[in-house]
Amino acid sequence: MTVTVRFAPSPTGRIHVGNVRAALWNWLFARSKGGRFILRIDDTDVERSTKENEERIRADLEWLGLGWDETFSQSSRFGDYDRIAAELRRKGLLYACYETADELERKRRVQRSRGLPPVYDRAALSLSEEDRAAFEAEGRKPHWRYKLSQSPVKWDDLIRGETLVDTANVSDPVLVREDGMYLYTLPSCIDDIDYGVTHVIRGEDHVTNAAVQVEIMNAIIDIRVAEGGKGALPAFAHHSLLVGADGQGLSKRLGSLSIESMRTGGLEPSSITSLLARLGTSQPVAPEPDLRALADSFDFAKIGRAPARFDEADLLQLNAKILHDRPYAALEPRLTAIGVGEKLWDAVKGNIVMLSDAAEWRAIVEGEISPVIEDAAFCKAAASLVPDALSDDSWNAFVGAVKKETGARGRALFHPLRLALTGREKGPEMTALFPLIGADKARARLNGSRA
Ligand code: GLU
Repeated sequence: MTVTVRFAPSPTGRIHVGNVRAALWNWLFARSKGGRFILRIDDTDVERSTKENEERIRADLEWLGLGWDETFSQSSRFGDYDRIAAELRRKGLLYACYETADELERKRRVQRSRGLPPVYDRAALSLSEEDRAAFEAEGRKPHWRYKLSQSPVKWDDLIRGETLVDTANVSDPVLVREDGMYLYTLPSCIDDIDYGVTHVIRGEDHVTNAAVQVEIMNAIIDIRVAEGGKGALPAFAHHSLLVGADGQGLSKRLGSLSIESMRTGGLEPSSITSLLARLGTSQPVAPEPDLRALADSFDFAKIGRAPARFDEADLLQLNAKILHDRPYAALEPRLTAIGVGEKLWDAVKGNIVMLSDAAEWRAIVEGEISPVIEDAAFCKAAASLVPDALSDDSWNAFVGAVKKETGARGRALFHPLRLALTGREKGPEMTALFPLIGADKARARLNGSRA
């Protein structure tokens, strides 16, 4: 059977590093097995889903290099959901409930005060035809719950190992709201079966859902088989969730951790994929621009169960390393766009975190700066020693001459020269920058002029 996985975001917002970890692992696993990666848009919540969010999600995934073999939106499948829901109703597995939100809350409060778990009491199952008619006459519309088996559901989770959830401790889930809208569960189960999903890889916030879904999926498989079709349960892999460097959940900072903000902020996509592929696994995080190489080393057995710590500082460090190791040719169109040529790139690449930082160095080298003069006499003396034509080894000869002339050495020699020539305390090797700045600018800057 072809390995088939899906990434199933809801287009109710942007995707962030947490979601992308699931997307990436699905993608890597599919590629490592020669399988299929489906992008499913979970847009049954028509009020909160937007086309704009969907487009952003697609743009984010494409930018990360996580292309899909097939994509569809759940909103195109309501006919299938309606048919399965009707069949589940006919079998008595989907039953009408009339409690209001307030009534349900009151029930839960009573249960809690008695020390009982707040599990739905199934009162609706004992309603008679007349009771239901009376509710309808009052103007109430039913919502629909799935009747769970109330028994242990076990599976061998590819990350968590043997996992057991007793659905006796779980409320019968509402699958259809009173306005007829499907909640996430039923469409997801139907799609996973109908699209032949073999592995469901997602966050461990879905572990309890998985037990419920196994029961619903089995009911859907029965329906499909009775129709002459087929279906099989997928395997599950539930990974731990990311926490911030402070050990807290990421939820509060999701805006700044959205993939879109990283994309528009100029981060390299491979920094994100390099970090997220290995974070929380027994494999070391390393800069890896090649997704295929990450796929080749993907292994569920190497994924740990503890929450993984996501630190943006790691992301920036990887970004710097990735840029440092990239040959000019690989970045040429982007560097040309910001006016950075090969010599300048080679000079500055070891000192930048983001590609756009190279443009700042371009401005320093080629544009006008206000030099910072610590010791005017020293700098003037140095200015008179700048040779007319600068070559790759001019810096050492120049510094040697300044040293001889002024007697300055060490930091007292180098620091004022760097400050005057670049206006900065730190930066790339002066050996490489000096010839790029050129003799005229160098002289003018050492003389304290804007140049
Ligand atoms: N749309 C669901 C979510 O974003 C999908 C969960 C799943 O992978 O089943 O939580």
